[in-house]
Amino acid sequence: MVNKVNADIGVIGGSGFYSFLDDVTEVRVDTPYGPPSDSLFVGEVAGRRVAFLPRHGRDHHLPPHRINYRANLWALRSVGVRQVLGPCAVGGLRPEYGPGTLLVPDQFVDRTAARAATYFDGTPLPDGTVPKVVHVSLADPYCPTGRAAALRAARGRDWEPVDGGTLVVVEGPRFGTRAESLWHRAQGWSVVGMTGHPEAALARELELCYTSLTLVTDLDAGAETGEGVSHDEVLRVFAANVDRLRGVLFDAVAALPADAERDCLCTRGLGGMDPGIVLPQPLG
Ligand SMILES: [Zn+2]
Repeated sequence: MVNKVNADIGVIGGSGFYSFLDDVTEVRVDTPYGPPSDSLFVGEVAGRRVAFLPRHGRDHHLPPHRINYRANLWALRSVGVRQVLGPCAVGGLRPEYGPGTLLVPDQFVDRTAARAATYFDGTPLPDGTVPKVVHVSLADPYCPTGRAAALRAARGRDWEPVDGGTLVVVEGPRFGTRAESLWHRAQGWSVVGMTGHPEAALARELELCYTSLTLVTDLDAGAETGEGVSHDEVLRVFAANVDRLRGVLFDAVAALPADAERDCLCTRGLGGMDPGIVLPQPLG
């Protein structure tokens, strides 16, 4: 069920990004894959309609490996969203990427183990349609337009971002061992998180623009001495940076193109292939 509430930009992140907006409409959406992490919270930012989705649920009860990523992206598209910003907390794999670093990755590596990561798995939908075998290109997983908007927005707020880098996505919910962390770093990867995949891949399958903004909350185990990462430390650093990250997100929202003006590769994610299913359309 979709209410008559539409948005064209989605933000998947915590409640800190929308809870202070004046006029937010809670929209419950169901999908063929089950319910998303929570309701969508639709409001207006810089004259744009934005749907916020708390990735872990509003009370943060969903660990990264239990998030229904397929339902989340499907739900956003169901209300009209075509461009998605995905802020997330990560660990820094290099000493120079300390807490408070904002890194806008241009690549990711998937080291997750057990997540539903595609819409095209041959399973019939409740309406009887069957997704075909579709292989999307993910050579460049993030939207170039969205990345540029995010980088400009950060610089506009005197927060010099790291432009590019590789986000390695692990299954979690545990943090890495020192050996894993050193191995990730030795590969030349930049930051480690738990939610970047399959979010970006599913967005491409739905021909949505997806931009990842990673906030370093800790140095991963191999990059620091002491006892390694603690959950408390992650929460503390994230809370200390949520206000300025919200500012960057809102400025990026304002800078994103109108739907009709999108000309990036994301809009051709399926390459003209027939997916065999009808991608969600807003009911209006
Ligand atoms: Zn795009």
